[in-house]
Amino acid sequence: MGFCISCGQQHQDGIRFCRFCGNQQPGEQLLARLRQEAEQIHYLRLQAQALAQQQQQQQQQYSQNQYNQQQRW
Ligand SMILES: [Zn+2]
Repeated sequence: MGFCISCGQQHQDGIRFCRFCGNQQPGEQLLARLRQEAEQIHYLRLQAQALAQQQQQQQQQYSQNQYNQQQRW
């Protein structure tokens, strides 16, 4: 079962046109491409999150080092 991308009505898989509003539905190729794009976006987001976390940790380490140096003197 799929849903019309235009009117949101439920319809059978594999149809080319919605039987409620007549809009063309995405084919398997388009769906596969959209799925791939979504995965790429998800992956990029994960990478960005990991990078931000790394930078945060580095900043924490840096300020800790400074604190240690201040203590030593
Ligand atoms: Zn429709």
